[in-house]
Amino acid sequence: MEARRKIIIGNWKMNGRSKDLVDIDLLFKKIPQQEIDIVIAPPATLLYELKGLNTPKNLLLSGQNCHQVESGAYTGEISAAMLKDAGANYVILGHSERRTVYKETSTLVRLKALEAVKQGLTPIICVGEHLKSYENNQTLSVIERQLKVSLNSKIICDNLVIAYEPVWAIGSNKTPSPEEIEKVHSFIKNHISERFGEHATNHCRIIYGGSVNKNNALKIFSLINVDGGLIGGASLKATDFLELIMIMQNSLN
Ligand code: PEP
Repeated sequence: MEARRKIIIGNWKMNGRSKDLVDIDLLFKKIPQQEIDIVIAPPATLLYELKGLNTPKNLLLSGQNCHQVESGAYTGEISAAMLKDAGANYVILGHSERRTVYKETSTLVRLKALEAVKQGLTPIICVGEHLKSYENNQTLSVIERQLKVSLNSKIICDNLVIAYEPVWAIGSNKTPSPEEIEKVHSFIKNHISERFGEHATNHCRIIYGGSVNKNNALKIFSLINVDGGLIGGASLKATDFLELIMIMQNSLN
């Protein structure tokens, strides 16, 4: 894979049913074919249906979570192998909603990521600080702790994505300043470089998530160490997501 190609990921969370796929065609027809990777993370119930549609080559699918083992007596859970089978190439792990609501730890995120890689899925590992840590200037130490525990050399793969998502920025219409985002991304890059070397640094994509919208996207996507975006609310409507895809495309120029 070309090193650090820009990537935009739409996380639909617990939204979307078959009937909501009517305007997805618009997205399929209008997205640029080559320059950036586009990923949609629908609810697991829609993966197979989306895969069956005529998806463009650079539009891939992602799960929103997976279990850390391959199969077994885990009622209600979905394994990485099942996501792969349903058409996913990626899986979001350690999203702040999973960390907060379901008390997922970085240790669990690491186990899930190992299973994802074993099954041929690329993990999208989310890290980010709560408001209190941000206000107390502890952002970098929180991120460092999360990375130390969530990552190991077996998780490092050519497509790995790390999403910096400040918890306080998700769905709040607030974002850190571009300088703050750049500082955290460059910190993550250095962490990868020191622990896993040059190849990993050149391939691991570090993306930003949290209240990205059409007004702030160009500034954020144009930052040197921002390789893309994880988009929640603004990915639910095909027209809104398409607008952000086009902004990312423009940020390449
Ligand atoms: C998210 O939940 O990953 C996210 C980035 O949400 P939003 O874009 O709505 O802030």
